[in-house]
Amino acid sequence: MIYLDNNATTMVAPEAAEAMVRFATELYGNPSVAYRFSRPVREAIAGARAEVAALIGAEPDEIAFTGCGTEANNAAIFSALRTQPGKRHLVTSAVEHSAIKRCCEQHAPQGVETTYLPVDPAGRIDLADLDKAIRPGETALVSLMWANNETGVLSPVEEAAALCREKGVLFHSDAIQAAGKIPIDVAAAGIPMLSISGHKFHAPKGVGALYVSKNIPFQPLLVGGGQEGGRRSGTENVPGIAALGIAAKLMRERLAAPTRDAVRALRDRFENALLDRVEGAEVNGHPEHRLPTTANLHFPGAEAQGMLILLGEKGICCSSGSACSTGNPKPSAVMTAMGYPAKRAKSSLRFSFSRYNTDEEIGAAVEAVAAGVKKLRALSGYAG
Ligand code: PLP
Repeated sequence: MIYLDNNATTMVAPEAAEAMVRFATELYGNPSVAYRFSRPVREAIAGARAEVAALIGAEPDEIAFTGCGTEANNAAIFSALRTQPGKRHLVTSAVEHSAIKRCCEQHAPQGVETTYLPVDPAGRIDLADLDKAIRPGETALVSLMWANNETGVLSPVEEAAALCREKGVLFHSDAIQAAGKIPIDVAAAGIPMLSISGHKFHAPKGVGALYVSKNIPFQPLLVGGGQEGGRRSGTENVPGIAALGIAAKLMRERLAAPTRDAVRALRDRFENALLDRVEGAEVNGHPEHRLPTTANLHFPGAEAQGMLILLGEKGICCSSGSACSTGNPKPSAVMTAMGYPAKRAKSSLRFSFSRYNTDEEIGAAVEAVAAGVKKLRALSGYAG
């Protein structure tokens, strides 16, 4: 198997998996109970909080662990609306993940209006559009994804955060695809809220975190036992949180080390080889402003569904559109928002790489993709 679908989810790092087992079988005490058995459990949560904070340039007490990235996104929107009851307007982009879009839509019956900023063919918003969309005194939150899950295209998050600050509007970023892959510094960028998800960077599924700056008010989505400083009730998923802390540390060390460009080199090698070998192939999304770990490629004359079958036969995992919409015959909403015709969207594949991919895998995947395109083009009578 060659796993090139790391934007869908990632392998749990062995070091993180070890911690999961330990906190599930040996150190299984409830962190909220005072006896000695629970002390190392509380310490593990504190350590993980510090590591997650360090990964994004936050203070440990600004991190609340959640059950997933979706929950962190929902909690950010919910809090922005609850703490500013007079403000009934949200701004986001047309290419956000459904964990943001559906949550905005969900508030419409309560009179909350959402503006969806358009993107250009490279997948980026225009800051002038954001400037126009903000309604001072009415806009409760601007939420923009740091990196797109399908194309890897980066939003101008730091600039958008500065604009929001200037206009006195709260800002949130869904950094679920960006965290651990590129440097993030919420303090330096003056970002008040940000979401991350463990399973996108070698921690397990079912654990995420919401960063909320200590300078802003917050209302929790889940109430109950008051865990996480009252920001997210529910007994903590300690195995998941301990593993998240370890994965955050590994990713931070990786980002700081000279090896940080290793995954980019694999992606570039893969992409350049295919652009070279497959006539008419092109990159979807901005060539520079994108994650170093994603290649979304258009292969004219080779339908993605057919390619997925051919590649699947060779044990290669990749995606058409986002994982959540695979099997959905509609062209990707992200590609549609970028102005691509349905035909292009349906002949595009997303490959996403991680530190666990090897040079040999890249070579084999290039051969398989090039052969697949050739086969489908011959079948469809594609003439170029
Ligand atoms: N936001 C983005 C950009 C994503 O890529 C994903 C996962 O695919 C999510 C949110 C949802 O995260 P989770 O699966 O942890 O709920």
